[in-house]
Amino acid sequence: MVRSREAEVCGIAGVFESEGAASLVASILFAIQHRGQESCGAAARDAAGRIVAYKGMGLVKQVLDEAAQARLSGATAIGHVRYPTAGCSDAVNAQPHAIELAEGPVMAIASNGDLINYGELRSRMEAEGVVFKSDNDAELIGRLIALYHVRNGLTIELAIARVQRELKGAFSTVLMHKDRLYAFRDPHGFRPFVMGHLTHEGEGDPTSEGTVFASECCGFGIIGARRLREVKPGEILRLEKGKPVVSVAHAPLEPRHCVFELIYFSRPDSTIFGESVYRFRERIGASMAAKDAALANGDDLVVMPVPDSSNFIALGYAKAKKAEFGMGLLRNHYVGRTFIKPTQASRDEGVKQKFNPLPDFFPGKRVVLIDDSIVRGTSLRKLVRMLRGAGAREIHVRIGSPKVVGPCFYGIDTPTREELIANRMSEAEIREYLGADSLRWLDVDDFEGLLPGRRPDFCTACFDLDYIYPPEGFAAKMNAPTVSLS
Ligand code: SF4
Repeated sequence: MVRSREAEVCGIAGVFESEGAASLVASILFAIQHRGQESCGAAARDAAGRIVAYKGMGLVKQVLDEAAQARLSGATAIGHVRYPTAGCSDAVNAQPHAIELAEGPVMAIASNGDLINYGELRSRMEAEGVVFKSDNDAELIGRLIALYHVRNGLTIELAIARVQRELKGAFSTVLMHKDRLYAFRDPHGFRPFVMGHLTHEGEGDPTSEGTVFASECCGFGIIGARRLREVKPGEILRLEKGKPVVSVAHAPLEPRHCVFELIYFSRPDSTIFGESVYRFRERIGASMAAKDAALANGDDLVVMPVPDSSNFIALGYAKAKKAEFGMGLLRNHYVGRTFIKPTQASRDEGVKQKFNPLPDFFPGKRVVLIDDSIVRGTSLRKLVRMLRGAGAREIHVRIGSPKVVGPCFYGIDTPTREELIANRMSEAEIREYLGADSLRWLDVDDFEGLLPGRRPDFCTACFDLDYIYPPEGFAAKMNAPTVSLS
């Protein structure tokens, strides 16, 4: 997928009982910056026991610089990188959120995902006098926990358990309350969420000291942590100084791990849902190559990814086909947020800024151009034209996922059904629109065979519309009751 506004998620991090917790959190957030570039922040507990949060619009290196880290003292911290899948693009929606309780500012929360029943819960809470400062899910989760704690007298743990049952949708969450840290995940396990241990604390069964959490484990290595395991779907973990990590509750429902995390969102050096992301992508490529026997190998054939998310799919394809692998498109990694634009015109301009073909690479070549998915198709069309202009003789587009026919309601900001190209055009029309010589998607049955587990354990709703929850505003976002699926 050519990354643009329609597809981003968020990322969370947490560090418990390790010196310089805020800077460790900043390092993890930097490693998962790909999950959100709009805003970020961290919160830590100072010597007086108050939660101090520091957040703002921008990248981790800009917002959580050394001065910011120095203001966040303490051995426990949580953090967040955000892209606005829900709620407006504004600093008030940056996370973590500090939540005032009767005892003062002793709670902070950061969460990744989208809630289907946000509107219903917010209306109910506002009717009970709860005042919100932002439009995002994490604040609602925090305030609902606080409501049950203060009004109903539940312990924070029981309040988390009650809230966990009431929320519908995706949430991987870290919550600091006084000197404890909690990590909990939605009962379906939509988004990845891992726990690790700072290895300088020694090997063996972990105590809560030196424990880390993140959306993905790709940031653990740089802070000297090792991956322990996933936070289980429906699990609540409690961390207390000097004590073992305790799983205080585990109430899973049928799993719905997001397949797009494996295909596109997560970093290839992460392991999620028990699977190495890069190996999964290589398997996709190999599976597609096996279907492409009619595309003859030869000195003029080059397999090429749309960098970077499709690199390993293309590698798997090239290896299986014993064809040349080439990086004919160079990606400018410094385009950053300039590329995340709201209009098609600005997205088109962004494609030119972001990708550039190698000179003298393409003339006479037959190119297998691999992308991980097609959403609107407009950016891929620009790329095909770019390669044609650079001299490619043939361009065969291969898509490493089945057709995207439905939007996501669980944390990925995909467009309405009407905007998805697979709902608007036939395969032949899409091929023509892209300007490709041939076009093929990953076959649905092949895809199911590649999954690292049982097919029903994964959410594949954007391919098959099998949504586990009918979301609020479902009809409006689907937006196209007369469109037939291809
Ligand atoms: S609808 Fe698609 S993007 Fe959203 S959680 Fe399901 S598989 Fe992932």
